[in-house]
Amino acid sequence: MKILVPVKRVIDYNVKPRVKADGTGVDLANVKMSMNPFDEIAVEEAIRLKEKGAATEVVAVSIGVAKAQETLRTALAMGADRAILIQTDDEVEPLGVAKLLAKVQEEEAAGLIILGKQAIDDDSNQTGQMLAALLGRPQGTFASKVEVEGDAVSVTREVDGGLETVKLTTPAIITTDLRLNEPRYASLPNIMKAKSKPLATKTPADYGVDISPRLETLSVAEPAKRSAGIKVADVDELVTKLKSMGVAA
Ligand code: AMP
Repeated sequence: MKILVPVKRVIDYNVKPRVKADGTGVDLANVKMSMNPFDEIAVEEAIRLKEKGAATEVVAVSIGVAKAQETLRTALAMGADRAILIQTDDEVEPLGVAKLLAKVQEEEAAGLIILGKQAIDDDSNQTGQMLAALLGRPQGTFASKVEVEGDAVSVTREVDGGLETVKLTTPAIITTDLRLNEPRYASLPNIMKAKSKPLATKTPADYGVDISPRLETLSVAEPAKRSAGIKVADVDELVTKLKSMGVAA
């Protein structure tokens, strides 16, 4: 069974984003970019399934600028077998990404497509669900456990107030939640080895997909600044203050 893992190049999760002065978006000039953290979890899960013998090949796919090659090399260094970059300088919305991934799936016929539950830049949480709808295949979103059982896969999902386990027939779409696994660091020899693994470059036009935007960003603003706190001398003073604010009885 082949596993397809879509990985997105996003602003690194340690970076504090700065909004552009004209409010049109986030300033990405000279900002560290990395693989979306949920996608690292997806790559790790795919590699673990291959190591367990449940999968035979792991293919990483990214849609984005030429530099997304670095993100794909990271996936290859972690253990993916080959990569596909669908290169574009345009911003691609979740529906465009899902349409492209559906075309890739037509060619690759993977048994599982494991995506992140959300990209930390747009926080859309849409691509996996849209892809499942476009392909007409079952989905297990927010996965905290994945077990392949023949031509079915059992996915434990993190839902409000507990866990839900669903059984899907493959080909199926899974999106990863934070507790699914802890992604490995690529070792230096594997980083070197990844440089010679196959990476194909395509364009959205190669797949005949129209990626023109359907959404318009009206404005992007910084969150309101938090006002400074005050120090209190002891618990009694704290309680008095809370009472005066109507917070404590
Ligand atoms: P989103 O729906 O934008 O929050 O993204 C959910 C997941 O879809 C991500 O965690 C990735 O696995 C995948 N994805 C979204 N955008 C891209 C992209 N440009 N290239 C590859 N995968 C993507």
